[in-house]
Amino acid sequence: MFESHHARIDRRDQGGYGPDSERFFTNASSITGERMPELFHAVYGRGLVQELPAIAHRPYLVVTMEDLWSTFEPLLSKGRGDVHIVETLQRSRLDSIADELPPHASVIGLGGGRALDVAKYLVWRRPVPLFLVPTSTSVNAAFGQRAAVREEGLIRYVGWSVPEAVYVDFDVIRAAPADLNRSGVGDIFCYHTAHWDWAMANERGLTEPRWPYRREQVDEARTVLDRVLAAVDEIHAVSDEGIRTLMEAHRWGGAAFNNAGWNPRPIEGAEHFVFYSLEEVTGKAFIHGQAVCLGILLMSALQENDPEGIRKAIDRVGVGYRPEDMGVTWDDVARALRQLPEYVQRAGLWYTVASDRPITEKFIDYTREWLSS
Ligand SMILES: [Zn+2]
Repeated sequence: MFESHHARIDRRDQGGYGPDSERFFTNASSITGERMPELFHAVYGRGLVQELPAIAHRPYLVVTMEDLWSTFEPLLSKGRGDVHIVETLQRSRLDSIADELPPHASVIGLGGGRALDVAKYLVWRRPVPLFLVPTSTSVNAAFGQRAAVREEGLIRYVGWSVPEAVYVDFDVIRAAPADLNRSGVGDIFCYHTAHWDWAMANERGLTEPRWPYRREQVDEARTVLDRVLAAVDEIHAVSDEGIRTLMEAHRWGGAAFNNAGWNPRPIEGAEHFVFYSLEEVTGKAFIHGQAVCLGILLMSALQENDPEGIRKAIDRVGVGYRPEDMGVTWDDVARALRQLPEYVQRAGLWYTVASDRPITEKFIDYTREWLSS
C-alpha cells in the first residue's frame, strides 16, 4: 500500500492535504519579512561565552550541567556568584532551590534542554535578566518562553522567561555529539505529519473550536520546514550553515506555540503522540528528536503522506530512529502503536491520523520490515 510513493518530497503528493507548491513558493521570503512574529534575539558567532562576564549583571548565577562545567568554568570567573548544577527537573525541588539561592543580578543558562529549562524556571521565580547559551541543536528550549519541569511524574511547561539574548556559538555546538545535534531536525520535520493531521481534521469538520484551520500558519511553518529540508547535508555535517539553519528553525518553532495562540497544530501532531506512547510503555528516557523521527516515519506511513520522501531526508541528516538506536525493541514500538488511539483519548490529545485510521497488525508488520530495510 505504500510502494506507490516516490522517494522525494512532493507537496502535491500528500493525500490532498498539503499546501500547494505554488502558493508556498510565493510566500517563501515571508519569514524574514513583515509577517515575522516575535522571536527571541539570537546571536551567532565564536568565542561568545568569554564575553558574558562583561555583559551579565553581577553577581551572575550560572545554571549548567555537571559535564559541561569544567569546560566553561575558566571563562566565567569574573563577577560570578553561585553556580547551580542541574540535578532535577522536579518542580517542588526547583521551588526550594529558587528560595535558597543567594542574591544574584542575572542568570546565565548554559547547556542542552534541561539546563536551559531550569535557568528559565529560576528566572521566572526570581526575575532577573537572563542570557542563554545552548550547547547543542537538539531542542528548541532556548527559544521558548516556558520551562519544562516535572510535576507528579509528568512534564509540564510553565512560566514565562524571555532572555536578553541567545548566544549560539558554532564551536560550542560542534563540541556536542553529532548524533545529538542532528536529532534536532525531529522537531521541525514533524510539521510534515502535523500539517496532514490538521488539514484532515479540518476536512472532516473535527478541528477543535479554538483551533480552526489557518492556512497562513501552515504556510509559515512549511517555509521553516523547507529551509531545513534544503540544508540536510549541512545539518549532517554540523557545519556553521547547518547549525544556523537548524537553530533559526528552532527559533521560529520555540516561539510558535505562543505566537499561534497556544495552538500546537501548526507544529505538532500524531508523530509526537507515538513518542509519548512509547515513553509510557517503556518507561524510558529518549533523545527527543530520535523518537519523534520514528513517530514521523510511522505516522507518515499511516497517513500515506510521502513516507519515503521524509525518510530520505531523515536518513541524509543521519538521525538514528530505529528501536535499537534508542535502546528499545520493535515489540516496544508495536505495543506503543497498539495502544495509540486509546492513549490519545486518555491523554485528551487532538484529532489526528492516530484517531482517524486504525493501526492494524498488518500495518505494524509492514512498517517493521520497511524501517529495518
Ligand atoms: Zn517535540
